[in-house]
Amino acid sequence: MDDDQIARLLTSGLSAREVARQTGANRRRVARVRSERGIPTYTPPEPEHGTDARFQRGCRCTLCRAAHSRKNWALRPPPAARPAAAEAFPEEKSRALADLHAQDQRRTREAATRYYHAWTEDELAIALDYAHSATHAAALLGRTRSAVLHARIRYGGTGEASGPTPHRRNQP
Ligand SMILES: [Zn+2]
Repeated sequence: MDDDQIARLLTSGLSAREVARQTGANRRRVARVRSERGIPTYTPPEPEHGTDARFQRGCRCTLCRAAHSRKNWALRPPPAARPAAAEAFPEEKSRALADLHAQDQRRTREAATRYYHAWTEDELAIALDYAHSATHAAALLGRTRSAVLHARIRYGGTGEASGPTPHRRNQP
């Protein structure tokens, strides 16, 4: 193991720790080679937009906020015990849910004022905030429930945060 080899690995973008691990050289020697040859210090790559990691680094773009919101949602405490009947008859439960969703869709459609408008950043921030149900976000935005669900699928990952996504989609 010579210094040239250490320098090559450092130049290729590895951290001092990783170079030390791969070569068996100690950290002090790796650091010496770096400073002797003027190789810039390792900077870890920024996490991608649309990740909670990037949100934690301070990015508040729509995608990062959505990722953060999804993560919080995933970590939320389990819901309080549901009615036993609903557990015992999952088919009825999902039919009841589908009915509710259809009702919500009708209601949001009647109230919708923003048909076929392109999404703005501000609107997306609300639509992709998983603290809101799709129906609530739709009401806030003057959009239909299904428009919000589509936005969530297109820009934010999963559709309905509070239950299984219905197989049949109501348009628009
Ligand atoms: Zn971002």
